[in-house]
Amino acid sequence: MEVPLLFGPYGAAALEHADRLVQYGANAVWFHGFSEPAFDACAKYELAACVEFKTFRADLYKRPDLVPIGVDGKPIRYGRLVQGVCLAQQEFLQETEENLLAGLRRFQPVGIWLDYLTYAGWFETPQPDLQDSCFCPGCIAEFCEATGVDAATPGEILDRHAALWTRHKCERIGGFAAGYAQIIRDQVPGCVVGAYVCPWEPDEYKGALTRIFAQDYALLAPAIDVFTPLIYTTKSGRSATWARTFLERAPGFVPAGRKVQLILDALDFPDSLLATVESPHPSWGIQMFGGAQVFGDPDRAQAFLTAVVRIRKAIAAGVT
Ligand SMILES: [Zn+2]
Repeated sequence: MEVPLLFGPYGAAALEHADRLVQYGANAVWFHGFSEPAFDACAKYELAACVEFKTFRADLYKRPDLVPIGVDGKPIRYGRLVQGVCLAQQEFLQETEENLLAGLRRFQPVGIWLDYLTYAGWFETPQPDLQDSCFCPGCIAEFCEATGVDAATPGEILDRHAALWTRHKCERIGGFAAGYAQIIRDQVPGCVVGAYVCPWEPDEYKGALTRIFAQDYALLAPAIDVFTPLIYTTKSGRSATWARTFLERAPGFVPAGRKVQLILDALDFPDSLLATVESPHPSWGIQMFGGAQVFGDPDRAQAFLTAVVRIRKAIAAGVT
């Protein structure tokens, strides 16, 4: 499938500036959920409507039943930000699927970006609290059934079958991705399927990308057209050059034929955007988180346009 080159803000607040987005190089807006006002504004100003769809995230304070179980057999530590739920919760999974289907029956998005398609954790911080999960009886039973392993406790699994456990988690997430992608493609043929991903390289934090978050690019690739790592440099305690470094290294771990489109944080503007433009491997479009701040300021919006023009030129010149 030809994946359109999309640039623009993430966040419905940016639609306040919808009338001037196009002049500053934006041709798309990403917003949370199937929001009718956002679809209407996109239609009016000829912007590609792209939905961020939450998969495995819930308010764990309100839904303690969804909290994954850690290696100690107790619910994992979590704060306001943690993503991921126990994936043995059939009712929750059913609701998620119904929400996706209901939205797609009403609206025709240009793209859907699956969010929180992951096991539990939080990576937008310099010191992540990484906990392996979910060791509830249902998730352990599913592991044993899928792999033929006979293990009853987290200790047994991690001591004897750690690699298989990680692989199983990644296959489980890959399976959900395939299911959601199928629903999207059946309902809205041609809709781009994107996924927000942990921005760490496969060997960082002892392989936490797969070991903790269960995001395996190769296993996700059949379902996902565009991978969108969250390159939030200030929040993650990294330098702005991270954007460029990620793009340079991505061909080493993102399967060929899949696009990488960064989402940058307005907090890091313009440095991470400038680093992105400098990469010899262009980002396939850009999402700007908190984009209202950028497009509400003509100087910043102009800097966004300049970056878009440069990225488009690099792609047109065949730089990949
Ligand atoms: Zn579980």
